Amino acid sequence: MRISAPIVESLDSILPDEPLLMMGAGPVPIPAKVAAANGIVINHLGDTMSRIIEQVKAMSRYVFQTNSTHILGVAGPGSAAMEMAIANLVTSGDSVLSVTNGFFSGRLAEMADRVGGNVHRLTIEEGQAASPEKVKSALNEHRPQVLTIVQGETSNTVCNTALPEICRLAKEAGCLVIVDAVCTLSTMPLNMDEWGVDAVITGGQKGLSCIPGVSLVAFSEAAWTKIEERTDTLKHWCLDAKLADKFWYQSSYHYTAPVSGIMAIHEALRLVCDETLEARFNRHLKCSKALQAGIEGLGLSLYTHGASRLNSVVGIHVPKGLEQKAILSHISQQFKVEISGSFGLDIIRIGQMGEQCRVHNIFRTIHALGSTIQALGGEANLPQGVAMLEKALQDFEPSFT
Ligand SMILES: *Cc1c(COP(=O)(O)O)cnc(C)c1O
Repeated sequence: MRISAPIVESLDSILPDEPLLMMGAGPVPIPAKVAAANGIVINHLGDTMSRIIEQVKAMSRYVFQTNSTHILGVAGPGSAAMEMAIANLVTSGDSVLSVTNGFFSGRLAEMADRVGGNVHRLTIEEGQAASPEKVKSALNEHRPQVLTIVQGETSNTVCNTALPEICRLAKEAGCLVIVDAVCTLSTMPLNMDEWGVDAVITGGQKGLSCIPGVSLVAFSEAAWTKIEERTDTLKHWCLDAKLADKFWYQSSYHYTAPVSGIMAIHEALRLVCDETLEARFNRHLKCSKALQAGIEGLGLSLYTHGASRLNSVVGIHVPKGLEQKAILSHISQQFKVEISGSFGLDIIRIGQMGEQCRVHNIFRTIHALGSTIQALGGEANLPQGVAMLEKALQDFEPSFT
């Protein structure tokens, strides 16, 4: 043997004794039932798998609020689901309007470019939600076949709150709408059918509080018609929706499904159904607003203002004189709380997706963040932070019934 086996450490010795609390922009903590399901392997075809797939689709219809009969899974990250939506709905030469608020919406535009779309980027001012007026004039100008947009732009914590209106305008203009809901699905309302969304993209490790690496896409009837009527052969074999349909609707083979990942998604969706969307949206809103109050109570300032603020991930200006990297590393090492930086912005981000939205997790995070800033020589009013967090929790009135 030329190449000898390397000497490596066991996972036990690499991983910390106490797991880090994952409070960043994803992956997020997963419930014990999801973790247990992810340890199961069964036959990827056959009756048991078919029953599980039927349930995954039924639960997805609830979570996406759709009657779609074209819900497909993909063995891959949220980006694979993005690429599946784009590759199947954008044909070479199509005019595509990409509403671009930041990193992930920019990725949708790049993907549309790569499949030969004639992409027009509507670049939205940093930190702002897209306005229906601007989208309307861009629709008039570019006459797109497809519009791409994110519901929540995780990278800079902006929420496209006018999404229902933007979808309506796009429908009026006769254009298919692709919405990236990787961050937001099941954290805030997304009514696929009512809003007229043609493709909803999700991932596992964010709003759904599941594992990374298995994702879902739902297509509308109009989207499916376009897919069926395509006469060219898709260049992406794995992502070909017509091939994926064989597994998801015909109990037959496309590629070996990510069996354990599907088990995990099944459990994650079942927990959403158990909780109900209304209760889940209220929990997310309550925890995120309380976290935001706690952050301001510490004396820190939130990055996104007013109506454009995303609740699913909260962005915070790095306090003057401190370094983003130093904060992330101190809070992780000293407090076992993991939070995120951002792509090029001088902000830190704290997630409020799925299991992150638990009262004990936000108290621990506020304590850890305030203490970290003090330890690094900055100012943070910890008693006030904790008090404002508590007050926001007590004052919360549910918005969803
Ligand atoms: C994280 C994220 C993605 C990409 O998901 P990956 O699993 O990292 O590929 C896409 N869109 C949004 C809005 C996201 O937050």
